[in-house]
This record gives sequence, structure tokens and C-alpha cells, in this order.
Amino acid sequence: WSSSDSVISTDSAGEHSAEPGRPYRVVLLGASGVGKTAFASIFAGAADSMDSDDCELCGDEVTEKEIEVDGEPASITLIDTWDSETSPACQYMQTGDAYLLLYSITDRASYLRASELRITLRRFRPAQNTPIILVGNKCDLVRRREVSVSEGRACAAVFDCKFIETSAAMQHNVWEAFHGIVRQLRLRRDSKEA
Ligand code: GDP
Repeated sequence: WSSSDSVISTDSAGEHSAEPGRPYRVVLLGASGVGKTAFASIFAGAADSMDSDDCELCGDEVTEKEIEVDGEPASITLIDTWDSETSPACQYMQTGDAYLLLYSITDRASYLRASELRITLRRFRPAQNTPIILVGNKCDLVRRREVSVSEGRACAAVFDCKFIETSAAMQHNVWEAFHGIVRQLRLRRDSKEA
């Protein structure tokens, strides 16, 4: 995107500077191969996926789009990150407004990785009510399941976040995850305004 300055601008409390009307920054986090790119492509829509730009700062994919949730438009900047040993320190741990934390139900290591990322996120965002949804992707691969639904739910309960199982391949529950994050962002915004 054009104004890379705004990406890292935070005030003294670590919150974003107030930028009324700016898009919500939603960050996709998770181990490699869990389906982040597949999520981003569904979000972008096949036709617009060429609009994704390489973020100058991290080399990650960024897509900006307006979607409608509960009859109200919401502008979202979706950031598809690369997981690596170094990327947890990436600025998106500080600057996302909300996070979709993905693992694959067919890969226990990715489930454990999601926990690690959640802990790192908490370190970067202490005492902040940042919306996070734990997403168990690839639920179409029933026979290769390594992580049960109840384990996913239990993990989300420990981490005090919402949980959903999805299949990007079947386009199942992917939009529900995006809509869920917008609803949480709105609740947070409304409680701030109240
Ligand atoms: P990323 O590394 O997290 O960005 O993962 P990708 O989106 O590149 O997905 C890794 C592989 O898993 C690709 O071959 C995808 O086609 C496949 N994949 C992603 N989501 C699903 C899903 O829900 N079901 C199945 N069966 N395959 C998926």
C-alpha cells in the first residue's frame, strides 16, 4: 500500500492513532501450508487477486476490499504473512486490528505453532482486547484429521478467543470467519464509543 508510515504508527499506549474510517487491518497468521494464501485468495476473489501488492516492509501479500457484514459495509486490509523463525517479530504483531490464527486440522505441529503464535501475540499486545479467531482449516480432509474439534475449542477457550473450523478448499465457513472478525471489531469499537 501507499502510506507505509501508517502501518507502524502507534501512540504511546501501543494503540493505533485514531484514523476514523480507515480500513480494519486483519492479519492472517499461522504455520506454512495451513491455508493462509487460500484464505487470502477467497477474500480477494479470483478476479481481483491480481490487485494484491507486495508489502514493502515484509514482502507479505496485502489485499484491500470492502465487504458487507450485517447490512453495513466494512473496509478490510487483509495481510497474508509468511511464518518463519523471524516473522513473529514482524510489525504485524503490533499493528493488526484483528487476527485470524490458522492451523490445519491435518497437522498437529501447525496447531502447536498456533499456540506459540498466540503467546507471542499476547506479548506484543498485552492487556489489549484484540479480536482473534482460532481457525482450524482443511476440515474437508476428514481422514487425515490429527486435531479434534474439541481440542480446537479447548485451545480457543484457554486463549480466550473464538473458534471456527473451515475448509478453504470447499469454501466452507471462510466468509463466516471474516464476518466474525468484523463483528468483533465492531463490538470493540462500539464499546469504546459508549
Ligand atoms: P499457506 O502456506 O498458509 O499460505 O498455505 P496455502 O494457502 O498455500 O495452502 C497450502 C496447501 O494446502 C495448498 O496446496 C492448498 O491448496 C491446500 N489447502 C489450503 N486450504 C485447504 C483446505 O481447506 N482443504 C484442503 N484439502 N486443502 C487446502
